[in-house]
Amino acid sequence: MEIHRIVDPSFDVNLYLVLGREEAILVDAGTGHRSDLVAGEIEAHLEGRPLQQLVLTHRHFDHVGGTNDLVARYAVTPRVSAEDASPIVEGDARSTGAAFFGGTLEPAVVEVIAEGDKIDVGGGSLEVLSTPGHTVGSICLRGDDGSLFTGDTVFPHGGVGRWDFETGNFDQLFASIRRLNALGVRDLYPGHGVPVQDEASEHLAWALATLEGYGG
Ligand SMILES: [Zn+2]
Repeated sequence: MEIHRIVDPSFDVNLYLVLGREEAILVDAGTGHRSDLVAGEIEAHLEGRPLQQLVLTHRHFDHVGGTNDLVARYAVTPRVSAEDASPIVEGDARSTGAAFFGGTLEPAVVEVIAEGDKIDVGGGSLEVLSTPGHTVGSICLRGDDGSLFTGDTVFPHGGVGRWDFETGNFDQLFASIRRLNALGVRDLYPGHGVPVQDEASEHLAWALATLEGYGG
């Protein structure tokens, strides 16, 4: 698998284009405010491969706002956990944080993914891990190449997701990060900030220490 980070400069959110031999998937959709720029970067790397799936790490607007634009461009199927699907399907501006980001969210049609699902990328695969805490339906994706896509659950350098938004929960976040820390992954691809190559375990241990500092 080949991984390309695409930064949506509107709220500095990371999208990841994961390329297999003959297909590609995208992790998160960005805000949609800069969809031409995002599509340009996707097309620069696809090299004729179809973009087959859009996997959304959680319900928040900065990660899902661009969904319908990507569906229109690539006929891609958006997939999200059952727990975070309904605010996206309903275009719930409050629960997705769209109102907080100063906008609205267009309702989208999604398919549901769940813990243990494997997403085949052709020459590699990503496994869905249910990691609630930042939102109740937050997921991470674990690649069979040692990669881990974490959305807003955990960030490099001891950063952790906020648990004070709607459906967030400190104890769940703590359990999720404890689980991620035990995986022994190599590379960390967060929803915001610069990815970590080779030293993911160290960074996940720091995140755990951060939560312990909050009394976890
Ligand atoms: Zn978020």
